[in-house]
Amino acid sequence: MMSRTHIPVGIASALAVAPPHAQLTQLAIYAVAGGLGAVLPDIDSHRSLIGRKLKIISDVIEHIAGHRKLFHSLIGAAGLFGLAYILLRLSYPLYLILLLPLLVGYLSHLVLDTVAGGTPWLYPFVKDRFGLHFETNGIMEKWFFRPAAVIIMLFVVYHSLSLMGGAGR
Ligand SMILES: [Zn+2]
Repeated sequence: MMSRTHIPVGIASALAVAPPHAQLTQLAIYAVAGGLGAVLPDIDSHRSLIGRKLKIISDVIEHIAGHRKLFHSLIGAAGLFGLAYILLRLSYPLYLILLLPLLVGYLSHLVLDTVAGGTPWLYPFVKDRFGLHFETNGIMEKWFFRPAAVIIMLFVVYHSLSLMGGAGR
């Protein structure tokens, strides 16, 4: 799937796990981290949005790990977030708040890729990709998955804002 489809789903997924009655700043942090988490797995492709922004890092990762392999698996996600957790605990514990929305966005990417070409969920133990084979940026993505993703995101944003805790409440 394209980043344009991943981002709204990442935002919606992260907001869905935000604490109830969170305040606007916290919702904004969750939304941004969720959107970022949702494009993060494609750092293993130099053609993706994030791969083009972080070209050198992406080239190295693609060369070593390959596209839609370790970075698109549960083990890869567990390793990456486990490492980030340890590093943040030791250095900037304040930023630990970012990990949940980032992780949820990340996992939403793997779920969406399952629809478009399949995700190697159990890589490196099982190398097969599981899922359906709708074409990336094909008719289904453009006319169904992406509009649906945007509608779901708008709904979740509206819902989160309507539950938002006000100052002094
Ligand atoms: Zn992907």
